Amino acid sequence: MKLTIESIDVGRGSEVHHVYTDHVNWTLLRDDDGITLIDAGYPGHADLVVDSIRMIGGTPEAVVAGLLTHAHVDHIGGLAKLAGRYGFPVYTDEIEVAHARRKRLEQAGPLDIARMAYRPRAISWLVEVLPLGVLSRAGVDDAQGVAAGVPLDLPGRPVLVPSHGHTSGHAAFLVADGRGLVSGDALITGHRVSGMTGPQRIPRGFDHDRAEAAQALIGFTHLDSDLLLPGHGPFMRVSVAKAAEQALSQE
Ligand SMILES: [Zn+2]
Repeated sequence: MKLTIESIDVGRGSEVHHVYTDHVNWTLLRDDDGITLIDAGYPGHADLVVDSIRMIGGTPEAVVAGLLTHAHVDHIGGLAKLAGRYGFPVYTDEIEVAHARRKRLEQAGPLDIARMAYRPRAISWLVEVLPLGVLSRAGVDDAQGVAAGVPLDLPGRPVLVPSHGHTSGHAAFLVADGRGLVSGDALITGHRVSGMTGPQRIPRGFDHDRAEAAQALIGFTHLDSDLLLPGHGPFMRVSVAKAAEQALSQE
């Protein structure tokens, strides 16, 4: 499996690394206090996440905490494995906690995926993600909620931005002193099922509440960030506000 790392030097010994793979991305925030890992791919990506940490010169033991944009298997799967292996806590939006603990499940099941099969790319996507663990239901039993809108006392000082809709408690994270937005699946720049490039919404059928997800995008149009670190698709140096407008204008 191939990965591409885009590194941003924030200054004062702080770095942001966006790790891109063909299927899903994660982000590493590193400073003198250690590493914050935001999302960690499918269960089958756990070792690749460790590789990416070593590629930036870190160690998995230096991970202080995991942050979760949302509890879909392609974001929580690797995080559940690594949190168990290395013993770090996992934090997310207060509303997403029950989803992360699997008290609630908003994930597409095999039937939902079958309904998407009319899309020409959906079948080849499914064949690729099955071995990564797309049908896994593993969660993080002790995931906890954190406050929104204030810098968290974690490496990289991320700020949780509620952006509900893709899941009930989906969150984005401002990083690099607000210059960057880790947008999760609220705003993406590519997806195997869409085949489009550039800022866009996740394909229909993956959102829990499409209308609420549009409201989250409207929220992004008020941000000042110029680095977009999406959950799917490549990193982009682009006005996040303009990218959100572009995604909204496509439907
Ligand atoms: Zn996703």
